[in-house]
Amino acid sequence: MVKRQKTESPAQTKKIASGIAKNILEGKLPPVVALEGELGAGKTTFLQGLAESLNIKEKILSPTFVIMKKFKIPEGPFSFFYHLDCYRVGNSEEVLGLGFREIIRGNNIVAIEWADKIKEILPQKTLKLKFDFLDRKTREIKYSSII
Ligand code: ADP
Ligand code: MG
Repeated sequence: MVKRQKTESPAQTKKIASGIAKNILEGKLPPVVALEGELGAGKTTFLQGLAESLNIKEKILSPTFVIMKKFKIPEGPFSFFYHLDCYRVGNSEEVLGLGFREIIRGNNIVAIEWADKIKEILPQKTLKLKFDFLDRKTREIKYSSII
């Protein structure tokens, strides 16, 4: 399945994210989400929308010095939301060292920015989102998943 959606604002990007969150909660999309796209393409903005629709009150930021942040999901079928940003990651070993395999095996939603850096350790059932910068306010989000 490949879908593409244009968004004209951060709010619209968050709305697309909340639709995807709903599908993850209903088991229609996998809980591991890989985000690709250049700096400023909207990956973190998308994850702010995703976290909001999971009722996480803390603000999702671009974790500059930490690779991974963990948030409790207050209700529903999943326990934690993990936000990884692999921008500064050199290789997959670094992420494996954080317990990545246990995290994706657990009852968690896991979103990974710059996921192309750790391609070889992503599960087969990963929701892949690609963000393209069209102009100052416009982004295109392409997504595909095997489930
Ligand atoms: P990334 O995590 O991919 O580096 P961010 O989400 O941190 O990107 O930043 C995206 C920037 O682009 C923000 O400053 C946001 O306000 C701006 N922006 C403008 N239009 C959009 C849009 N349609 N969707 C998402 N972000 C947008
Ligand atoms: Mg980011």
